[in-house]
Amino acid sequence: MSFETLNLHPLIIKAINEAGYTTPTPIQQQAIPELLSGHDVMASAQTGTGKTAAFMLPALHQLATPPKVRSRGPRVLVLTPTRELALQVSEAATKYGRYLPRTKVVSILGGMPYPVQNKLLSQPVDILVATPGRLLDHIQRGRIDFSRLEMLVLDEADRMLDMGFIDDVEKIASATPATRQTLLFSATLDSAIDKIAARLLKTPKRIQIATQKARLENIEQRLHYVDNLSHKNRLLGHVLQDETLKQAIVFTATKRDADTLADNLSTQGYDAAALHGDMNQRERTRTLTKLRRGGLQILVATDVAARGIDVTDITHVINFDLPKFAEDYVHRIGRTGRAGALGIAVSFASGNDKIHLKRIENFTGHSITSHVVPGMEPRFKPRPATGGRSRKTPNITQKRSRSWSNDNGNKQNFNSANGSRSSSPSRPYGDDSNGNRPFGNEHNRGNSRRKEQRQKF
Ligand code: AMP
Repeated sequence: MSFETLNLHPLIIKAINEAGYTTPTPIQQQAIPELLSGHDVMASAQTGTGKTAAFMLPALHQLATPPKVRSRGPRVLVLTPTRELALQVSEAATKYGRYLPRTKVVSILGGMPYPVQNKLLSQPVDILVATPGRLLDHIQRGRIDFSRLEMLVLDEADRMLDMGFIDDVEKIASATPATRQTLLFSATLDSAIDKIAARLLKTPKRIQIATQKARLENIEQRLHYVDNLSHKNRLLGHVLQDETLKQAIVFTATKRDADTLADNLSTQGYDAAALHGDMNQRERTRTLTKLRRGGLQILVATDVAARGIDVTDITHVINFDLPKFAEDYVHRIGRTGRAGALGIAVSFASGNDKIHLKRIENFTGHSITSHVVPGMEPRFKPRPATGGRSRKTPNITQKRSRSWSNDNGNKQNFNSANGSRSSSPSRPYGDDSNGNRPFGNEHNRGNSRRKEQRQKF
């Protein structure tokens, strides 16, 4: 299938061709025709699947026809959980709509000065991309006219739910015309999301795209056991020497650690910078722009700050500290392996992280193979093999292929499916997972399961 067969406006096709897209991704193939025919849609699609274009291209197509109502307010409203994602959606809208008239894009984000936003909102807007809290503020102050709003998009609805934004989202939706077309995108479509959809969408078409497991298949996940901070730092140095590394995101547990580690790496001569919630929006935007333009090799970040980052050259994600929540692991490593590229995700874990690891593995349905770097072996004995088997230490040349359970509980081979891109001289320990996946099918888990998964480690 080509973009031409989707009947999008020729000036949108022109912009897509310039972006280098030749074939619509599965979510685009399924969602675009439904959206063009005016249906409400709820779709499960992760970042990295091309979901932004899946809703933005039909939105722009709609903007190519003159509005039915005369007003200066937005015709398309996109709500996102984070500022970073909002900025990316805005950039995508500008990119895909560059040849169309009437595509003024405005972002209204928390943490930015009100006077600037007031000015932006006093001018004509076509596409408004916003985080819920700040937008609601402006609505309550009477600064937004939704009389000509035609489309409402809830991007990463599951995340908005998890972050406690859903009440705001519903208040915002109730301020928009009932005639609007509503789209809901979420990593998972579970019962909690179904309830929101039932309140906000009209007989939506349901589209289910690849599972999280499938999304992770082009990411090689590795584990290194660490004894202490200095061991971790040495291993980090080793990973950063990987010759396939173009750009990397290193995740730390705290903002302070992000600053310290970024400073240390800069002192060692890397182009490194921190990104976290204590930085003001201007600093965050400057750092992200530098990352996108390739001027930054290593970004040291905390979870929330790094959500939604979409930079194709990020070859490595390094969990310097494991995330607090198992699902953040998936969001973190999804920063690599973008747009079909292969990615490497390296996690450091200490002896105390055993339960954290198990939860992550249960959540993703993958068992992460542990590697050792010759000369940097951990002193403590990593997790024992299950079933009373003792772990055999493989010899240095013996690199076992990684394996994990597929949906049927069968083991799949990473190397045969995707090819290994490893060039670093590390080697895996035996795969000691027993393949039991109590929460294997992420898409079927309900709200109580969501809470369970998001319990702090
Ligand atoms: P998203 O899932 O929207 O975050 O998109 C992930 C990445 O895929 C972005 O870098 C997009 O530019 C890219 N992308 C979106 N659609 C296509 C396509 N049809 N062909 C190639 N790349 C695409």
